[in-house]
Amino acid sequence: GSTIGILGSGQLGRMLGIAAAQLGYRVHIYAPETGPACDVCADFSRGAYDDDDALTAFAQAVDVVTYEFENVAAAPIEALAQRVAVRPSPRSLAIGQDRVAEKRFVEEVGGRAARWAEVADRAGLSAALDRVGTPAVLKTTRFGYDGKGQARIASPADADAAWNAIGGGPAIVESFVTFGAEFSILLVRGSDGAITSYPPPWNEHKDGILARSSLPAPGRVAVQWTEAAALAGRVADALDHVGMLTLEFFASDDGPVFNEMAPRVHNSGHWTIEGAETSQFENHIRAICGLPLGPTGLTAKRIVMENLIGDERDRWAELLADPEAHLHLYGKHDARPGRKMGHVTRVVRA
Ligand code: ATP
Ligand code: MG
Ligand code: MG
Repeated sequence: GSTIGILGSGQLGRMLGIAAAQLGYRVHIYAPETGPACDVCADFSRGAYDDDDALTAFAQAVDVVTYEFENVAAAPIEALAQRVAVRPSPRSLAIGQDRVAEKRFVEEVGGRAARWAEVADRAGLSAALDRVGTPAVLKTTRFGYDGKGQARIASPADADAAWNAIGGGPAIVESFVTFGAEFSILLVRGSDGAITSYPPPWNEHKDGILARSSLPAPGRVAVQWTEAAALAGRVADALDHVGMLTLEFFASDDGPVFNEMAPRVHNSGHWTIEGAETSQFENHIRAICGLPLGPTGLTAKRIVMENLIGDERDRWAELLADPEAHLHLYGKHDARPGRKMGHVTRVVRA
């Protein structure tokens, strides 16, 4: 088939659309109320994610469906999968969108997460804090991103405020991890089961939002690469995953501690567009279309991706004048504080 359907019209869908177009595919975007992700994408449907008729028409118009974000209800995706290939599978989506399910899954294949407990209601939070201890982080089980839907708990006295801040359960409480650095494993698994992963970026966050990814990662991350990549491979195999899969880790003194996963391309992989032999977007398209995967080595000595968050228009001229800087703008009109408007990747060859 030669037409790819993408659920979601954010910047990840946009960059997937650009990679798909480069390989000669047509792209249809399915997203509620918004237009296409980019000029190469057709605005096929604006139905809601639970609109059966719109999803059926979408399924008929495409050869394979993928998604750029995991916050889509599982039921309509299952229905879509009855009619057309959905890659990664609905199971990868169901697990990757639920913090409890993904922690359980990763632990089952031998990974380690921070101490955690499920929280159904306010009384359950107190019981969970007794088990997990403080400091801790309370997170909504689903639909959180960029640090939204989570609250720190320094001591049990903070429980009420944290519960109200996240708007109630279902939630998960995790013990606060002391870490030297954060990193991610960006892995791609082909439709034949072949797996390849990228060198891990060192990820620095600010206010719960990814600020910067740098490669090669410092030694305290590099020593944990092999163990974390092996774990990610076991997760991908156990899910029979097809496409990109990202696992976020804390590099702790006791080794890699699993934080969360995403069954898709990831912000910490944007550097791969200029900094790797094959970008994460191209490798995702290759995987879901049954093509061989591309190599994942670095193209330069040092690569740094920085997110452009909020209104940073006054920096564009300087970035455009810098021969090492590659500027990406997502075409969003409303530069609200905390909103990802673009990113810049610096590729240092010398
Ligand atoms: P993303 O945008 O990556 O999807 P998210 O909203 O899903 O983010 P997390 O990745 O769970 O949220 O947390 C965001 C950041 O908050 C982490 O990258 C880390 O810096 C910090 N954090 C989250 N959980 C913990 C923890 N248990 N211990 C220490 N720091 C944490
Ligand atoms: Mg997340
Ligand atoms: Mg995260």
